[in-house]
Amino acid sequence: MKIVLQHITKTFPSRGKKNTTDVVAVSDFSFEIPDGQLIGLLGPSGCGKSTTLNMICGLEKPTSGHIFFGDQDVTALPAEKRGVGMVFQNYALYPHLTVLDNILFPLENLKGKDKLSKAEMQKRAQDAAALVQIEELMDRKPSELSGGQQQRVAIARALVKMPHVLLLDEPLSNLDARLRLQTREEIRKIQRTTGITTVFVTHDQEEAMSISDQIVVMRQGVIQHIGKPQDVYDDPANLFVAQFLGTPPINVFEGLVKDEILYLAEDPVLSVPGLADQEVWVGIRPEGFVLQEDGPLHCKLSAVEVMGRDISVITTHPASVTPTIRSIIASDHVIHPATTDIHFAIKPHKLHVFHKKTQTRIYKEGERSL
Ligand code: ADP
Ligand code: MG
Repeated sequence: MKIVLQHITKTFPSRGKKNTTDVVAVSDFSFEIPDGQLIGLLGPSGCGKSTTLNMICGLEKPTSGHIFFGDQDVTALPAEKRGVGMVFQNYALYPHLTVLDNILFPLENLKGKDKLSKAEMQKRAQDAAALVQIEELMDRKPSELSGGQQQRVAIARALVKMPHVLLLDEPLSNLDARLRLQTREEIRKIQRTTGITTVFVTHDQEEAMSISDQIVVMRQGVIQHIGKPQDVYDDPANLFVAQFLGTPPINVFEGLVKDEILYLAEDPVLSVPGLADQEVWVGIRPEGFVLQEDGPLHCKLSAVEVMGRDISVITTHPASVTPTIRSIIASDHVIHPATTDIHFAIKPHKLHVFHKKTQTRIYKEGERSL
């Protein structure tokens, strides 16, 4: 099922007596989710992810704008008529019901032409349980399950109605690191097997990048960038997106363009033909630094961290915005502990230039000649 969001805005009235400005949780959000894709909705806490998801499922009504499922305008359609499965961060299982009865619950409330026979309901519940591999837990109560198992029950419960659309709101946040990794792979597998159009909300960039066909990066209710994870990482629309994606994060510098040369403090790091003289923000990915004796970027060594496959070289530079710069270098390089000065060359496609005021990206790879 294709989902189209057309100029969706959601405003909440202010609660405070003194501060009377309304909260714009989602602002002019337009996006088309192709049928069968998994979309990662990504952004910091409070940026409007849950509000967006709640509008898609029908728990919240947009202040303005329209939502379409396929060709049908569902903006005014109540949640239970939308054919949507929803999974939340806190699994919200019924504690007094067994796993089987929890999964059956949404089916038992179906009325009229949707009503199923007992046998059909059992079959559906078994199929959903098989999909998330909890068939052997059907007689247990939620309190007798681990967090990961509870979350699988919640996913089975969302799948049992065979929804056209699956919405997941930070479904892995309550799981420990290892389980989070495993469960996200399972969610991806289930999504591929069923082909259900899925929106996956998370504040964790790595999680969103690893499972999504496309990611939507949000900030304060506004879409910043939509694209394939690798494209958004390689080609960020602005400084916020560049900083939000990637671990370790991108290194940010204050730069100066003068006579078509980009300077970081005194160091001329890149030729930028066509770019006018101005102050800029410069982002360099950790993997964009190359150790090179006559390299243009002159840094002071702070520390070297060995990470097995790679080494992390921690340095300082006067134009850096953060106290230290973190670069990732292949571990076949040896850095003598007594070294004080480190010189880097920069891989041009790992360096991004941003407008000083608007913070949008102003100089794109390909326009560059070095
Ligand atoms: P996220 O899921 O990205 O953390 P939310 O969508 O929950 O963000 O919230 C977005 C903004 O809207 C926040 O500023 C939040 O405080 C506000 N908000 C969310 N729900 C309500 C509500 N029911 N009433 C008032 N403000 C709300
Ligand atoms: Mg939320």
